[in-house]
Amino acid sequence: MSDSKNRAWREVDLSALAHNAHILQTALAPGCRLMAVVKADAYGHGAIPTARRLEREGIRAFAVACLDEGIALRQAGIRGEILILGYTSPWEAEELIRWKLVQTVADELHGQALAARGLPVPVHLALDTGMHRLGIPAEDRAALVRLYGLAGLNIRGVFSHLCVSDSLQTQDLSFTQEQLKRFYGALQWLRAQGYAPGETHIQASYGIWNLPPQPCTWARAGIALYGVTSDGRPTRQALDLIPVLSLRARVASVRTLAPGEGAGYGLAFRAKDARRLATVTIGYADGLPRDLPHRGGAVLLAGQRCPMVGRMCMDQLLVDVTHAPHAAPGDVVTLMGRDGGQVISAENLARQCGTITNELLSRLSHRLPVVTAAFAAKPKKENLF
Ligand SMILES: *Cc1c(COP(=O)(O)O)cnc(C)c1O
Repeated sequence: MSDSKNRAWREVDLSALAHNAHILQTALAPGCRLMAVVKADAYGHGAIPTARRLEREGIRAFAVACLDEGIALRQAGIRGEILILGYTSPWEAEELIRWKLVQTVADELHGQALAARGLPVPVHLALDTGMHRLGIPAEDRAALVRLYGLAGLNIRGVFSHLCVSDSLQTQDLSFTQEQLKRFYGALQWLRAQGYAPGETHIQASYGIWNLPPQPCTWARAGIALYGVTSDGRPTRQALDLIPVLSLRARVASVRTLAPGEGAGYGLAFRAKDARRLATVTIGYADGLPRDLPHRGGAVLLAGQRCPMVGRMCMDQLLVDVTHAPHAAPGDVVTLMGRDGGQVISAENLARQCGTITNELLSRLSHRLPVVTAAFAAKPKKENLF
């Protein structure tokens, strides 16, 4: 393989990741431990380097979206619990056992189909407390009894997911309270019936930011672990998190356009006066939204902000470097992250693109090598896990 910094790359600061994990752990209730959500290639950060570093920091539970993501972690030697949050076809039950993965039960039918394999399959029951995506309706006690009665299921945990916990609006806050009530109500009822729920979890990142510590055994953090909020809006408590990912590329070529000349597909950029343009080695196939130049996208080059111009290409884009006269082939360009005193935050970039950081980060292409580094100059915290 080539030098991974030869064209464009995802730079991942593993000490920032470790720092964030410790900060999040301190925001949880005693007895509640952080589960690292590393689905979608750890939100574009590289699932394996991310999980390895978190395991070294003491994290013992991971969550992924699907079977193959779980298998990939096991093949990389990750130990501890790995929970699959999404659907797995019942005929893959043998694979779940083979790789020691825990499956979410999506609804009663799914639970019955998994149980019918006669294995038993290790699972967590998802309870639907109002999101209406996955889960057994929390108030359907009869369904819970039927599921606990299945010999083919080894129920090791019960959890739910909050759907408006990112909002601080009154009606959303009361909906979240309603979800919590349904969840803890079901847990209490299970215990009263003599069923041990095992692991319990309901907070994701916004549940950690916006709710008081919860009396559960785990909290599932995704986006917060990567040091950014979804959309830059304020949260009830501000946690001292550090962005983990920077996105960088290089200048391939620099040229001067005479007044009136155009550049790129459709000649969508037109030079009104003499302009210096740099061609940058990253494009929409790398995961950048194609309309970013029209939405005011810019890059940092030698600490200067240079606007994107024209149409983004699949593998390249154009920036105006008229005011950065020293720009030269090979220079490092920052699409997201810091360069000198300047920063392009994931939150601002996502807002500019009309999306959230979760989408922006998780769509970064696998073509971009993950280059791990450790920069965050923070004192080492004692092990809290
Ligand atoms: C993706 C996901 C999470 C992580 O969400 P963040 O908001 O990124 O922390 C937690 N739980 C479930 C069920 C998920 O699907």
